[in-house]
Amino acid sequence: MARDYYEILGVSKSADKKEIKKAYRKLAMKYHPDRNPGDKSAEIKFKEAAEAYDVLSDEQKKSRYDQFGHAGVNGQQGFGGAGGMNMEDIFSQFGDIFGGGGFDSFFSGRGGGGRRATGQRGTNLRVKISLDLNDIANGVTKKIKVKKQVKCNTCNGSGAKDSSSVKTCSTCQGHGQVRQIRTTFLGQMQTTTTCPSCNGSGSTITASCSDCKGEGKNYGEETIEVKIPAGVSDGMQLSLRGKGNAGAQGGPAGDLLIRIEEKEHDQLTRDGSNLIHELYINFADAALGTSIEVPTINGKVKIKVPAGTQSGKMFRLKGKGLPSVEGYGIGDQLIHINIWTPKSLTREEKDLMEKLKSMKNFDPKPSKNDKGFFDKMKDYFN
Ligand SMILES: [Zn+2]
Ligand SMILES: [Zn+2]
Repeated sequence: MARDYYEILGVSKSADKKEIKKAYRKLAMKYHPDRNPGDKSAEIKFKEAAEAYDVLSDEQKKSRYDQFGHAGVNGQQGFGGAGGMNMEDIFSQFGDIFGGGGFDSFFSGRGGGGRRATGQRGTNLRVKISLDLNDIANGVTKKIKVKKQVKCNTCNGSGAKDSSSVKTCSTCQGHGQVRQIRTTFLGQMQTTTTCPSCNGSGSTITASCSDCKGEGKNYGEETIEVKIPAGVSDGMQLSLRGKGNAGAQGGPAGDLLIRIEEKEHDQLTRDGSNLIHELYINFADAALGTSIEVPTINGKVKIKVPAGTQSGKMFRLKGKGLPSVEGYGIGDQLIHINIWTPKSLTREEKDLMEKLKSMKNFDPKPSKNDKGFFDKMKDYFN
């Protein structure tokens, strides 16, 4: 049976936030595992107090607990067996309890000797990749050669001359961390901090690798395969983790940031996922109708231009545009008709034109369907 939270903290039901906090702080100090090494009952009391504080310090949880008891607070049935808060949850309360700051390092060594700091992380690298519309339409894998800092092969990034020149740090005996007894307003506290002699690596180097002068990296080149998804556009950036400059003394590498540049296509203009082709036809073809080849991203396609096609007409080739980079939908190709007016004429051509211009069907009689270019663009964008 779980104990009453007020009873655990030793406060009355009318206790305010401040009293609850104070009571918990007292118990947390008393039963803290670092002060009671190997004492199981202290650990249970420590956890009980943390759980009680977790509920009573939270207004919502507290009111549910007051109304429904243990059943009201998230099914936490106390610490009799499994479940409830883990140590990490408990330690995360401490910033609040102890006002943050100075106590951060108090818990840093928990859970298997703590994390070892490693060498400095490498810097990010930026490169540009230039793609044509074909690459963008289909997606592409590019191999690029990147000049950058690479891990030193001689010392495998450690920066040491050989294995005998790596010594266990004498300050921390290889733990990477040192424990100190500090006197605080709460009494004597044991704190754990990163070893100042080895910066947390746990070892010191007595002789440096001659190839990299102890840096663990040197200037080199790497060929990197970059998979570029279909549908990317100019200015987009891809990032490849860990493909940037190598870190110092075995530190993690930076990232490779790849900026997409789009090469202009000489016959197709991109508009989002649509492609636009400006098609010029002579007015005889426009009047008589014709069948004509147009370029698309994946080869030529024949289209029919019906008799009586007006300048400015848009034809749509469904699904002949670009895929969206998110992977759904594909754009269209639009063909914008331009009727070519001859800029100079021979004698014979002039004579023919003179004859045509007085014929009755050559008089413009636009109907509502023969919208101008701007109206058609409006239709297209709507
Ligand atoms: Zn080296
Ligand atoms: Zn050390």
